[in-house]
Amino acid sequence: MVKAIVGANWGDEGKGKITDMLAEQSDVVVRFQGGANAGHTIINSYGRFALHTLPSGVFFPHVTNVIGNGVALDIGKLVDELEQLTGQGVPAPKVMVSDRAQLLMPYHILQDTYEEARLGGRAFGSTKSGIAPFYSDKYAKTGIQVCDLFDEPRLRERLTAAVELKNVLFQHLYHQPCADAGQIFAQLLELRERIAPYVGDTVTFLHQALKEGKSVLLEGQLGSMKDPDLGIFPMTTSSHTLAGYGCVGASVPPTAIQDVICVTKAYSSCVGAQTEPFISELTGPEGDELRRRGGDHGEFGATTGRPRRVGWFDVVATRYGCMVQGATQAALTCLDVLGYLDTIPVCTSYEIDGIVTDRFPTTPALLRARPVFTQLPGWRCDIRGCTDYDALPANARAYVDFLEAHIGVPITMVSTGPKREEMAYRTPDL
Ligand code: GDP
Repeated sequence: MVKAIVGANWGDEGKGKITDMLAEQSDVVVRFQGGANAGHTIINSYGRFALHTLPSGVFFPHVTNVIGNGVALDIGKLVDELEQLTGQGVPAPKVMVSDRAQLLMPYHILQDTYEEARLGGRAFGSTKSGIAPFYSDKYAKTGIQVCDLFDEPRLRERLTAAVELKNVLFQHLYHQPCADAGQIFAQLLELRERIAPYVGDTVTFLHQALKEGKSVLLEGQLGSMKDPDLGIFPMTTSSHTLAGYGCVGASVPPTAIQDVICVTKAYSSCVGAQTEPFISELTGPEGDELRRRGGDHGEFGATTGRPRRVGWFDVVATRYGCMVQGATQAALTCLDVLGYLDTIPVCTSYEIDGIVTDRFPTTPALLRARPVFTQLPGWRCDIRGCTDYDALPANARAYVDFLEAHIGVPITMVSTGPKREEMAYRTPDL
């Protein structure tokens, strides 16, 4: 059976911790979309890790970690990450890379960087890791698959054609030096040696694993709001962040996904451009305080170190985010962070052009939305590390009940700290 762990919001919900916990009970953990542009933070007995490409099952020797065909594969980054892991004392994990995955090329990163510079103030807040050009090329059919690395004449032909196109942009739009196909070809042959031991037919592997009754965990990156179809377009990423895409990006039957765990934080955080609508945002000194207290060492991007925008829990966005994921249960993270507050505002609806709505709108309307808050009493104490749900202060439990009733998805796990064991399991009331 297949379980998916995905984000209900803007990403950084704490999926890494939940995946790390659930990976232990899984046979296979799969990354099915995105690239090295976001990171999961995992804190376990080996130390603190920010994983960008590797699935979160790498800490368990029994888990096969699959990089699915839907991933934007930066081979150099993947191999570096593996070396870093073993360098920090983690036993070499079982890793399998899809022979159908496509390669994130140096010219994707350059294009991303040049385009952000060209856009200036209108930029989308890209991490400049080449993700948008990568997926554009995939759908324009000029991308290069891992399997192409093992057919040199084909690789050279496809690479030459791709570079020809890029160079028109580089020279005439961006006024930058041309990319050199010959040089990239040589680099790719070197990278091929590094990746070869891991390459395989992950499609057949996964279907076979499911036939044998193995448990497969799909690990999503980012969250619902970043999906190019159902998120806040165009402030989205370029691959689908929804559990449903796992059927394609990992290749598992749609009917095999039985459980979709949507991760959401007890408050909101969002990275990316300042122009992105973030309705429940908290700015000024109060925002600075929440950012400083958030996560395990403040709300700063795991990959970029950029300060994250923070805000109160947004019921409208989260209910929508859970709906489009098809959530069967929700995990609420970072509840411990809110212990310093007397009252906790929760955004329960939006006011758009004088009309109050609890339905998540399309981008033009979202840009005009104002938050409507409900005030809930805080609990004013440190609950960090609490593992017994019933031992939480009554106001903390009431806060969870309130969110659950509003998002309409059973909250089964309440995380009370960044460490794996800091988790209170809950029997939902719904
Ligand atoms: P992901 O991309 O969804 O995995 O999220 P990140 O790992 O980027 O961000 C979540 C941050 O919150 C990380 O710094 C985690 O270590 C931290 N974190 C996760 N769960 C909790 C929690 O329950 N409490 C606190 N204080 N921090 C948490």
